[in-house]
Amino acid sequence: MNKIVTLRKTEKLNLKEEIYSSNEIASLKGRTTLISGAASGIGKAIAIRFAKAGSDLILVDINEKGLDEIKEVTLLYGNKVRALSSDLSGKDAVRDLWEKISSDAPDTIVNNAGIYPFKDYLEIDRNFYENTLEVNLNSVFWMCQNFIRKRGSRGGVIVNISSIEALIPFKEDMAHYCVSKAGVMALTRSLARDYGRKGFRVNCVLPGAIRTPGTESLVKKAITKMQLSLIRTGINFNSRLTLGRWGKPDEVAKVVLFVASDMASYVQGTMIPVDGGFLSC
Ligand code: NAP
Repeated sequence: MNKIVTLRKTEKLNLKEEIYSSNEIASLKGRTTLISGAASGIGKAIAIRFAKAGSDLILVDINEKGLDEIKEVTLLYGNKVRALSSDLSGKDAVRDLWEKISSDAPDTIVNNAGIYPFKDYLEIDRNFYENTLEVNLNSVFWMCQNFIRKRGSRGGVIVNISSIEALIPFKEDMAHYCVSKAGVMALTRSLARDYGRKGFRVNCVLPGAIRTPGTESLVKKAITKMQLSLIRTGINFNSRLTLGRWGKPDEVAKVVLFVASDMASYVQGTMIPVDGGFLSC
């Protein structure tokens, strides 16, 4: 006889409960999420996706104008939204930000702010190198520390944005960037180990080939300056995208939402590429 027909009443109730719960666990209603780099590209898409999922927001970026714009958009979804402009490079800047946030610690943080300037390895000086590390890695280090301290026994969720370049350094002149993003992966795994049992889920998303104002301006620069090596790298890069196209910021945002929600309650210390297949071949 058909198995479904033979389900006992309690089993049917359990099944119903399971289906009912699934509708709820993707929701972020009643939670607050801090998103850095929220004024542009992937961060902006994450802000909109999380607002749609019902999360209150703390939006952080160095770009005040962009921050005001995304605040206006996300407010339309009826959640509470705070916009805090901050240059996250430096331990003190991150501390000041958390002082502004005060006792109202978010439940989730998404460390997305980042820069990706190109420079020949032999021309990199201390300032350039340190600035890249400050923004891309050290800010994430201090953001996580402040978050874990503030949340304490309540636990929380951390999603760090690294890059496919941390695993396959495809583009030349990006050694500084690759180092910073590999550091983000190492930090993610260390914190997942140290704080998993204390109620923190810590994971990493690795975007690749996402069309954003940041990547658009790099492509434009390569074409207008006729940087042939860059154009050649671009063609080789595209040939590795087994989906045959670049991605949209919202395609990263949807995965970040999944990782941050209870849909991913048993996902810990992992790295999830969102790269159109780049790392698969
Ligand atoms: P984006 O369009 O340039 O947006 C990044 C945002 O972060 C901008 O609003 C930027 O402000 C802000 N920001 C930069 N420095 C900051 C600082 N010191 N403090 C606070 N905010 C700062 O970049 P995206 O392409 O969306 O990239 C977002 C993240 O994904 C980055 O971490 C990037 O490394 C990573 N990623 C992206 C791709 C991709 O294909 N797009 C691939 C791999 C990894 P300004 O515009 O004023 O600088």
